[in-house]
Amino acid sequence: MPPMLTCPICRTEVEECSFKEVYVFPYNNQEYKRYECLNCDIHWWEPLKIVPEFYESEVFESYISFHEGVSARLNDNHKAFFKHFPSNVRGKLLDVGCGDGRFLRHAKEQGFEIWGIDFDKKSVESAKRNLGIDTVFAMSLEEFYEYAKEKNLKFDVITFFEVLEHQDKPREFLEMVKGLLKEGGYIARSVPNRERLFVEIDWKDPFHWDYPPHHFLRFSKSSLEKALNLAGFKDIEVYKLDFPFIELFPHLEKKLFGDLDKLKIKLKGMVLGDERKGKAYAVEELAKVSPSKGKAYILIMLKLIRNAILLPFALGYIGNLKGNGFYLYFQACHGSV
Ligand SMILES: [Zn+2]
Repeated sequence: MPPMLTCPICRTEVEECSFKEVYVFPYNNQEYKRYECLNCDIHWWEPLKIVPEFYESEVFESYISFHEGVSARLNDNHKAFFKHFPSNVRGKLLDVGCGDGRFLRHAKEQGFEIWGIDFDKKSVESAKRNLGIDTVFAMSLEEFYEYAKEKNLKFDVITFFEVLEHQDKPREFLEMVKGLLKEGGYIARSVPNRERLFVEIDWKDPFHWDYPPHHFLRFSKSSLEKALNLAGFKDIEVYKLDFPFIELFPHLEKKLFGDLDKLKIKLKGMVLGDERKGKAYAVEELAKVSPSKGKAYILIMLKLIRNAILLPFALGYIGNLKGNGFYLYFQACHGSV
C-alpha cells in the first residue's frame, strides 16, 4: 500500500502522492500540498496544521485590510444573513470569530441576545467596549465549549464568518458547534467560494489570503453541502453570493496590468510617511489619516482615473456577477436525532 492521507471532512483515504499543487508560504518557506477528495469534493492543504504563531503575528492582518473593498464584502455578507435567515428564529446567538463585533451589533439590532468568541484579545476588548456587553470572550471554541458545558449554556443560533476554511479539524469543529446548539437551533454564515469570478487571479498571488497557513480548505457549493450533511445538519441551504461590481476594478487591474500591489503600498506609504501603514489603509481613507492632504488627494485622483480606464472592461463583466462572488452563504438546522 502506498502512504495514505485522510480527507478531513469525509475520512476517505487518498494517496499521499496524488496532490494537485505545491505551494510555498513565502514567510517561512513551509511547503504545502493541495489534495482533492473525490468523494466529498473538498480541496485541502497538507500539512493540515494551524500555525498559532502566525495568528499572533501581524503578517496577514496588515495585508488583509489592504485589500480594496473589504468592507463592501463584509456588508454583502451581513446582508445575506439578514436576507435568508428565518425572521421568526431569535434568541441566543453566538458568533465564532466575532472580531470587533461588527456583525454582533447588527444582530443585536435585529433582536438577538448576542454572544461572541475570538482568539484575539484586542478584538474582544474592543467588541466589549463597542457593544457595551460582557458576553464576548477571548477563547478558542474548545475552551468555550467547556465553559458552556459548565454553565449549561446552549444557543439558538451559532454563526461563523470565514472561520471554517481556517480549521485543521473541520469535522470536529462542526460537531462541536452542533454540541453547543439547542435542538432545532441553526448555524449560518459563510466560507469563501473557490468557484468565484477571477479566482485564478487571486491564486496567482502567493501572498493571497486564500492560501495556507491562513486558509486550509477550499469549498464549492456541493462540497459545503456535503460537509454540513456529514456533520449531521438538516435543512441545509447554500447560496452563492454575487460578485460586487466595485471589486471588478482591482481584479481587472491585475488581469490587464499585472500585480501593482507593491507599487500601491509604496505610494500610500509615501503619503502616510510610513510604509508599514501603507498596507493597512485604503486609498479613500488616506485623506483622513495622512499628514499631507494634497498627496492623499492625488492618489484618490489616480484611483478614479484607473477606474475610468477600466470601466469599459468592467461593463463587459456585468452579466457574470450573479452567483460568482467571494462567498458561499449557508444555513442549516440541528436536526433532532
Ligand atoms: Zn472527502
